[in-house]
Amino acid sequence: MLLLKNKNILIIGLANKYSIAAGIAESMHSFGANLAFTYQNDRLKKNVLQLGSGWGSEIFIPCDVSDDRQIQNIFDELSKKWDGIDCIVHAVGFAPREELDGDFIDISTREGFKIAQDVSAYSFVAIAQSGKDMLKKRKGSLLTLTYLGSQKTLPNYNVMGLAKASLEASVRYLAVSLGKDDIRVNAISAGPIKTLAASGVKNFRKMLAYNEKRAPLKRNVTIKEVGDAASFLASNLASGVTGEILYVDAGFNITAMGALEES
Ligand code: NAD
Repeated sequence: MLLLKNKNILIIGLANKYSIAAGIAESMHSFGANLAFTYQNDRLKKNVLQLGSGWGSEIFIPCDVSDDRQIQNIFDELSKKWDGIDCIVHAVGFAPREELDGDFIDISTREGFKIAQDVSAYSFVAIAQSGKDMLKKRKGSLLTLTYLGSQKTLPNYNVMGLAKASLEASVRYLAVSLGKDDIRVNAISAGPIKTLAASGVKNFRKMLAYNEKRAPLKRNVTIKEVGDAASFLASNLASGVTGEILYVDAGFNITAMGALEES
């Protein structure tokens, strides 16, 4: 079933084959989408070009999302190739490593807080602003990636939890602002997955083990599973869904205490 045939989809946040963005690209490609990619810097360019070509893409645009001019440039470049965009995937998150290793009260800094909010949350709003006209032409949608640390506390997640809370609120505010143009805005709250960004959180491996034990499905999720949920949200099957945070976490978020172990 070619759910995304003839859909133009921009993916922001691919770093390597372990990225959640790679799982999303793989799924969307399998459903027939035309993909374009951005890459953060020259260090990641080769990886992104190599992976993206494998999914049939010929469009690769540099973009550091902390720079508004670079964000605008994505759409200036894309408008030379595409008449509109059906979906923009924002799979970007960052906080300085020192903010993710220790007790929140002791280690949080004004600068770290600002960077986490700017790169991980504000960039989604800036991308929506610059991408709006191209999305409007195709009644498209925006999709971002969040994490449970926005709603509940987790060790070491610290300022990223606050940034994700802000990102989730942005999903709701953008859904209202863009609804009149028939543009949908959603997020996937993914369970923990071993990626480059995740390795910045201290003791991430312990989080994976804890999640696996407590989640109703008794396992962690894969980037393929997140990708398939993203394909659904980008497709016409989700035409009535906006402002939503969809959990793809093997059910972890619904439990206060997992099943009791048989002893
Ligand atoms: P990743 O390291 O593969 O991807 C993070 C991406 O963010 C990279 O491609 C990086 O280049 C990009 N990025 C960071 N700063 C940027 C900047 N200034 N400009 C442009 N790009 C920038 O890791 P991932 O886990 O796939 O992360 C993707 C998204 O998924 C993030 O928002 C992350 O918070 C979210 N998420 C991850 C997990 C997890 O456990 N891995 C769980 C839930 C949500």
